[in-house]
Amino acid sequence: MTPTTSASGPVLNAFSVDVEDWFQVSDFEAQVRFDEWDRYESRVVANTRRVLSLLDEFGVKGTFFILTWNAERHPELVEDIAARGHEVATHGYAHRLVYEQGRDLYRQDLERSQEILARITGRRARGYRAPSFSVTAKSMWALDVMLECGIEYDSSIFPVQDSLYGVPGALRFPFVIHSVGDRQLVEFPMTTARVGQRNLPLGGGAYLRVLPYSYMRWGMRRVNREGQSAVVYLHPWEIDPDHPRLRSRGKRGVSSHYINLRAMEDKLRRLLSDFRFAPVSQVLKQRGFLAS
Ligand SMILES: [Zn+2]
Repeated sequence: MTPTTSASGPVLNAFSVDVEDWFQVSDFEAQVRFDEWDRYESRVVANTRRVLSLLDEFGVKGTFFILTWNAERHPELVEDIAARGHEVATHGYAHRLVYEQGRDLYRQDLERSQEILARITGRRARGYRAPSFSVTAKSMWALDVMLECGIEYDSSIFPVQDSLYGVPGALRFPFVIHSVGDRQLVEFPMTTARVGQRNLPLGGGAYLRVLPYSYMRWGMRRVNREGQSAVVYLHPWEIDPDHPRLRSRGKRGVSSHYINLRAMEDKLRRLLSDFRFAPVSQVLKQRGFLAS
């Protein structure tokens, strides 16, 4: 199948991976304490390598937003991601929701993650994604901190209403969200399809895993026909159907964590063959939001 084409040619979409382990997700936050993370079976290296192989198969480069607690323990994984030509970005250090941290703790978390990545790759990350898209109306102060920590683009705002995240009235496509002096922060919002007055979440992750693939394809084609780029995300544990089971009611009272894990790899293959993808920074550069 050929990629969806706009008036100016095939549209380039952004492919991203939030590199975290199966037990580090917000749904398990109540029963898996941060200071006990080392007790759980780590599968992030093997699962991320499976994602890397899949991307190699399709010749796709993406952006890896790394939860840097994992980078500290597995620096060779980060080196490998960079060596294969992907973009290394940050998902913070400890996966705490931004609006539950407050400005000082948030700065410490983000700065720590930048220092870890700089030690491993020789440079600080340009891109950031918040845990569970937790940049909301309650935590817009985070944009200022991102600029202070050297972040050039954020991809954390979901223009939908969810109990955990969302900025329902936010713009749907890349825009300059904040500036201080001559420094600008670009926002690449999580992708939605606009139907009537509503934004329907596309994005990837659980939306790709739980809903039929035809929904994702329909929505992304719709976005690409508008001449706009989508940003897609997934977590390495989503293509690991056999990871350990924990009982959780999730932060929302329900959890989609274990639903359709077996279907995810096949859906990803279809996505990678149906659309064109590149790292987030490359898409933003092509659209004139980043200089290099
Ligand atoms: Zn995450």
